[in-house]
Amino acid sequence: MERRQKLYEGKAKIIYATDDPDKSILYFKDDATAFNGAKKGTIADKGIINNKVSARLFQMLAENGIESHFIERLSDREMLARKVEIMPVEVVVRNYIAGSLAKRMGRSEGDELPRVIVEYYYKDDALNDPMINRDHILAFNLATEKQIDEAREIALRVNQVLKKYLYERDILLVDFKLEFGDYKGRMLLADEICPDTCRLWDRHTLEKLDKDRFRRELGQVEEAYLEICRRVCGDDI
Ligand code: UDP
Repeated sequence: MERRQKLYEGKAKIIYATDDPDKSILYFKDDATAFNGAKKGTIADKGIINNKVSARLFQMLAENGIESHFIERLSDREMLARKVEIMPVEVVVRNYIAGSLAKRMGRSEGDELPRVIVEYYYKDDALNDPMINRDHILAFNLATEKQIDEAREIALRVNQVLKKYLYERDILLVDFKLEFGDYKGRMLLADEICPDTCRLWDRHTLEKLDKDRFRRELGQVEEAYLEICRRVCGDDI
């Protein structure tokens, strides 16, 4: 598979075309941003860890009947994926109260929700990714009814499978963000699933093992990412 021109550069990844129009290569960087780019930094080896963790989790989801854009890991920092047309809506799934939900509802972090919450955010940096609902998605043509319903259904299935897989590795899946894209007329799970996009707490100590260590300057950021890599993949980078 030959890497061709750069198609898009985001905060954490670069997307390249390949010699196959249906496939792209994702390159994972060490750059870290938070608060919509207001806080910038790097996390050593983050790109390698996020590529490895995402690859393992996409593979595990496929083994459980949930397809994604993932094809294979090409190198430390490169993943080969099906080329999708990304829907401009982020899908967040929550099992425990944390982050923006704690703030919005005036609650402290850490309580388990009596039922799962799915939220949608409009992907637009200039607007700070505002929260929207299904009606906004349909009225503003961000996705069709079929697409958003498919995405929601897949997100809930991912939650079930991922929560169990992580719990067996002593990790609580607090919340996470997914992205979806159109691939030949169906919604496909895309992007990445890693400590940048999930809140992951140690099951016993509730220690944060995710990007909140960077966002909130809690220290031991690299160590937390490595610990997730060890627990999820069974080995180091
Ligand atoms: N998240 C993400 N990218 C974003 C916003 C959120 O991956 O641009 C993830 C975040 O890591 C967390 C979940 O989505 O696992 C819910 O985030 P929240 O709405 O609480 O926002 P935050 O506190 O991260 O601003």
